[in-house]
Amino acid sequence: MKTLEQVRATLTPYPIEVEFPDIRPWQEGNCGVDYVHSFDSGLAGPHVMVMALTHGNEVSGAIALDRLLKDEVRPVRGRLTLAFGNVAAYHAFDPDDIDATRYLDEDMNRVWLPSKLDGPEDSIELRRARELRPIVDTVDLLLDIHSMHEEAPPIMMCGAQTKGMDFAATLGVPRTVAADAGHPNGRRLRDYQDFADPLSQKNALLIETGQHFSQRSCEVAMDVTARFLVTTGVVEPADMANYISTSAPQAQRFLQVTEPVVARSMEFAFVEDFRGLELIGEAGSVLAWDGDQAVVTPYDDCVLVQPSLRHLGNGVTVVRLARVVER
Ligand SMILES: [Zn+2]
Repeated sequence: MKTLEQVRATLTPYPIEVEFPDIRPWQEGNCGVDYVHSFDSGLAGPHVMVMALTHGNEVSGAIALDRLLKDEVRPVRGRLTLAFGNVAAYHAFDPDDIDATRYLDEDMNRVWLPSKLDGPEDSIELRRARELRPIVDTVDLLLDIHSMHEEAPPIMMCGAQTKGMDFAATLGVPRTVAADAGHPNGRRLRDYQDFADPLSQKNALLIETGQHFSQRSCEVAMDVTARFLVTTGVVEPADMANYISTSAPQAQRFLQVTEPVVARSMEFAFVEDFRGLELIGEAGSVLAWDGDQAVVTPYDDCVLVQPSLRHLGNGVTVVRLARVVER
């Protein structure tokens, strides 16, 4: 049987194109929680939060927030909170083992269930989520910044509700928006409580900016964050002009994630070097082999969402499948 190390050795390594910012100057926040900076304009408006580092090795969001904090960006309406999530994992980053610090004890993007947060379990990530929770509880509009194992175009994950897709459409970037219900093994921050309640005005988006360590991914993080802040109304568009990309947004394409493909062995292998957002025309096309079992596309025009074998294991989701939908 292949080991994960053997599988990873066959995958394309990506260079670390970006510098990891020193975020220690931001440790002492201004609202009682380390690495959380919250600014109230004193005027009516939503509480808007941008979260970086929900996954410790996903640096693009940290670079964007570091820049906004250095530039002393402040809200003109409502309240703006800039937060670094899994800082313990970020500080443990090892350039020789780039996948190891997604989290330390458990995935911080699977703990956002009240029963879990209130429960008896303990982990580095649960402790951090519990610290952040009182602030998250007051947030109206959230952007959670992530990046991907493979270099691929960015995707906005807008959750399962229509309000999430509407919000992503108002933002206008990136080109691809994917609706999905999250993962069966826990709850994401973007799906926490009212964010996932169709009757609530609260809303959340999760941006996957591109490959973890690419320059392009950082540019996407900055552009999407700035457009998000403008869309929420907490900042003036003119104050974001330096951060917004000059290239015009492309018409958006909306996807509905229908199902995960779950590996059942360490022999799982894709038939091509898929990176993400490939569209496969014909139903029944072979995507991968899991040992001697063919994995085929279940419908025509099937889109691959974040294929990756970097965390391969029995029971691990290695790609999700999506249909193109009309809005
Ligand atoms: Zn992530």
